[in-house]
Amino acid sequence: MSIDFSESGFETEQPLVATSLLREDDGEYSLRPKTLTEYIGQRKAKENLTVFIQAAKLRNEPLDHVLLHGPPGLGKTTLSGIIANEMGVNIRITSGPAIEKPGDLAALLTNLQENDILFVDEIHRLNRQVEEILYPAMEDYAIDIIIGKGPSANSIRLDLPRFTLIGATTRAGQLSAPLRDRFGVTLRLELYTPEELALIVKRSAGILEVPIEDAGAMEIAKRSRGTPRIANRMLRRVRDFAQVKAGGIITRQVADEALTALEVDHLGLDAVDRRMLRSIIDNYRGGPVGLDTLAATINEESVTLEDVYEPYLMQLGFLTRTPRGRCVTVKAYQHLGLSVPGGFDGGMEQLTL
Ligand code: ADP
Repeated sequence: MSIDFSESGFETEQPLVATSLLREDDGEYSLRPKTLTEYIGQRKAKENLTVFIQAAKLRNEPLDHVLLHGPPGLGKTTLSGIIANEMGVNIRITSGPAIEKPGDLAALLTNLQENDILFVDEIHRLNRQVEEILYPAMEDYAIDIIIGKGPSANSIRLDLPRFTLIGATTRAGQLSAPLRDRFGVTLRLELYTPEELALIVKRSAGILEVPIEDAGAMEIAKRSRGTPRIANRMLRRVRDFAQVKAGGIITRQVADEALTALEVDHLGLDAVDRRMLRSIIDNYRGGPVGLDTLAATINEESVTLEDVYEPYLMQLGFLTRTPRGRCVTVKAYQHLGLSVPGGFDGGMEQLTL
């Protein structure tokens, strides 16, 4: 199997909670599990995939097209690499925004070999013309190419090798219905439990050869907001801290001190989470407030708030989405050490003054 990461982009700023790959994640490749057994958590998705992979192999056919959705950093790219590995085929990795013209997609597709996997990250960001090329490619393993212009233009059909498309998206709702319908398998990845993340942290620490105590791994796990990428990122930062200040071993205390110094609180909330909650409380009396208004108030992008911050705040029960906007809950007031105003009902009804 060969993996081509040539099209994946890297950002330069280094926050702990970032939407996509950072420069420091360069080593991520070595931390990625290579087999389904090594892939921790996501039991339901793994069970289903195991059956589909075995069946496809028995029939000597490519795997059905797979759509993976869930917040960033949960292991969609990793899982695609594993599928390729288990199927014993090549994977070619690209992303929706990187495929600008129908010709770009045609070039990618015609270069695949029989049963290969094409992984398209952020597939909801494909443009319409490119998407239309994808329909016959997914359904009939063929693309229609127009040759010439005006009245003499001719459409010819080009056969493709039988391949598997794996699409990854943080927002399945934004996929057009015709595209969504062409995926035979749809798998939703869930946020990980602290116990699963602790296993991931210990596995990564083993690969990076960092000594870590169980309680140290659990401390990182509890603060990494259900997300393996954040857990691995925190592990690297805590490792630096441990090496400089604590003789190299990651204990619970070292993890706690390092993460507190990085402004990550004991539930994993960072400065942006706290600004978001504080703003809803201070400026909008606990909500409801529309997402775009909130994003403008705290100077963040709406998509970042929606994809990266909200899922975890909602899982913690600190934030709710109502038809009229976002609201904080009593738990959020308590976590921030604020007293809950009389008559506050978590946005069910506007506060009556
Ligand atoms: P996504 O594509 O969903 O944004 P990635 O597949 O890039 O996420 O995963 C981010 C990092 O988290 C990878 O470096 C990988 O090592 C780690 N990771 C993700 N899922 C798992 C898992 N189930 N078990 C172990 N490590 C994981």
